Amino acid sequence: YYNEKSILYYDGKFLKATKASTDLYGQSLHYGYAVFEGIKAYKTTNGTKIFKAEEHYDRLGRSAELMMMPFDHTTPEMIEITYELLEMNNLSNAYIRPLVICSPNMALSKGLKSFLVIEAWNWDNGYLSEGLRVMTSSFERPNPKAFKIEAKVSGHYVNSILASQEAKEKGFNEALLLDECGNVAESSGANVFYEKDSKLYTPEKGSILPGITRAAVFEICDQLGIKYEEKRFKPEEMKGADAAFFCGTAAEIVALESLDKVPFQLEWKKSTSALVQKAYRHLVLNEDYTYLKNQLQYV
Ligand code: PMP
Repeated sequence: YYNEKSILYYDGKFLKATKASTDLYGQSLHYGYAVFEGIKAYKTTNGTKIFKAEEHYDRLGRSAELMMMPFDHTTPEMIEITYELLEMNNLSNAYIRPLVICSPNMALSKGLKSFLVIEAWNWDNGYLSEGLRVMTSSFERPNPKAFKIEAKVSGHYVNSILASQEAKEKGFNEALLLDECGNVAESSGANVFYEKDSKLYTPEKGSILPGITRAAVFEICDQLGIKYEEKRFKPEEMKGADAAFFCGTAAEIVALESLDKVPFQLEWKKSTSALVQKAYRHLVLNEDYTYLKNQLQYV
């Protein structure tokens, strides 16, 4: 993620990553009381472009607010800092990780002071050629009555680590987590969709992190005339569907091969989901929908 030359942003300054430090007496480290974002920048024909920068930094601000953290950075200011950081690190295809930490304080009360950190590293855009083999996790997503599940909070990701690790140890690629009622929620770090008869279905808000990629999928569907619906459903409903995918900033749109060893029916290339995947790849490269529609020859 970093080397001798890497620069990060920390509390108003650009610093060498190897020289940056934090104190060991803080709520963020001890209790997971921190909020963060995962953002990507792409090398486009119009230069380096941060995909959905506003949406991501708005969500960071909202996450901080939901955690009652003192936080006074504006979205335009954070976007500007990020472009500067990308330039300093000579990055174009990059993953960007803003993090808000609270320190120094060990009390179980709201943060007294917060610090914004922004890190960025190179992310070459290769795509997975095979679908993911996914298992229904024995771990549930955190109960929304116990957490602010719509906030991107560091502590929530202990649950993600447990689920993802369990899946890998059982020979799967990733986990699908249910909510406390047994409905499909999301993956460890991505939202989920399934396809049936050319229509896409995804869990409604409530027990998920409402992803920015998920919203981009809705946007693509609206533009291309693809039907979709947000609803509650059990994993059984999803098993044996025509196709399914995970979506998130890091994963982008990645096909699922099977759920609990039950394969999805359609050859991925022939699915509507594959069309959405293709459209997303164009969208991140800053291409408009007229271009997309022509490229995809989809009416
Ligand atoms: N759910 C979880 C638990 C995640 O960690 C992520 C990745 N941030 C997502 C969904 C997808 O969110 P986004 O599309 O905004 O990256």
